[in-house]
Amino acid sequence: MTQTTTDSRTDLLGLTRDQLQAELQAFGEKPFRAKQLWHWIYHQGETDFGRMTTLAKPLRERMAEHYRVGRPILAREQKSADGTAKWLVRFEDGNEAETVHIPEEDRGAVCISTQVGCTLTCRFCHTGTQLLVRNLSAGEIVGQFMTARDACGEWPTPNDGSRKLTNIVVMGMGEPLFNYEAVRDAMLIAMDSEGLGISRRRITLSTSGVVPMMRRYGEEVNTDLAISLHAVTDDLRDELMPINKKYPLDELLRACRDYPGASNARRITFEYLLLKGINDSEADARELARRLKDLPAKVNLLPFNSWPGCGYEPSSAHTMKKFSNLLNDLGLSAPIRSPRGRDIMAACGQLKSESQREPKSRQRARLEAGIVDDSHAS
Ligand code: SAH
Ligand code: SF4
Repeated sequence: MTQTTTDSRTDLLGLTRDQLQAELQAFGEKPFRAKQLWHWIYHQGETDFGRMTTLAKPLRERMAEHYRVGRPILAREQKSADGTAKWLVRFEDGNEAETVHIPEEDRGAVCISTQVGCTLTCRFCHTGTQLLVRNLSAGEIVGQFMTARDACGEWPTPNDGSRKLTNIVVMGMGEPLFNYEAVRDAMLIAMDSEGLGISRRRITLSTSGVVPMMRRYGEEVNTDLAISLHAVTDDLRDELMPINKKYPLDELLRACRDYPGASNARRITFEYLLLKGINDSEADARELARRLKDLPAKVNLLPFNSWPGCGYEPSSAHTMKKFSNLLNDLGLSAPIRSPRGRDIMAACGQLKSESQREPKSRQRARLEAGIVDDSHAS
């Protein structure tokens, strides 16, 4: 924790359209003001009321007294040799999370975090060694993408094919479906065509398998979905991903079958990390194909990204190729994803920030002092 702010003005970032409208109505303004403001905040990327020139000057001044448009601060940037950038973003209470920019030739993805730390303790994941500090708010989640837009100079939202930041992957720190409302609101804001304009097909949310929230997410948001599978027997998945004890494989796959909008044209991605001698045998590949047989599925094979003290080794290139080929022969598309940003610990499962969980007594004192009002997950 390095910096806190005591700005008591209401932050407009992260309010949904309806919430923004209600806020302005309570402020005595007509609904069309909300539309104008939305355009400034999410299409123009403006944070300074003084420059919102379609609003009358006295109104701009009045708004600046009561409101602000927050933005996570880009506190540190690390660049990988492959062009990937890892950004440490700092929120107003001083907590930090990581956002990763993965540029490609004609597109670019921003990998965003949904929690500082994670409550789950998947054995292969570095983030899982950092206790949950707190959930991020909708503004802090969508704000990471907007900070990326700031860094790439991509305002106002380009409407032609020239965008550098085309996709969002919700695959950073944290389990998104354990922070449901904030993630839902952030995604609805990102998808709004009069703002950031990232269509649902260009957003992929990855979950470790929070079964009870999957249908609701499909009904209310319906972006593409990815499942961190990594094992095809309950015994092994229980060991690698403790959430499996609560929501075992059969239930998880049933929830995938029921995911609204999943179809052969819109497949669910199953992420499968290849760990040497653990889940990379021919029998594992056959069981994987059998389990996914009736599902609109594709598999992403992930090479294991190691981190200090992890205790696992990646499968060899030869084993990965064999695994991928066998799945192909069994009718499943299963490309091997090349890891990005490994040299700066920005690859999948390598993210971790220095933010520590603080003792409850300190949290309480800080909350009472009104420094932050985000909900803290239990
Ligand atoms: N909590 C969510 C999203 C973040 S993790 C989830 O678990 O799905 C993003 C992806 O990286 C997940 O598929 C996760 O299983 C994978 N991952 C975690 N640790 C990894 C590692 N060390 N190497 C490669 N991938 C890893
Ligand atoms: Fe949390 Fe996902 Fe890492 Fe598991 S893999 S510890 S759910 S971030």
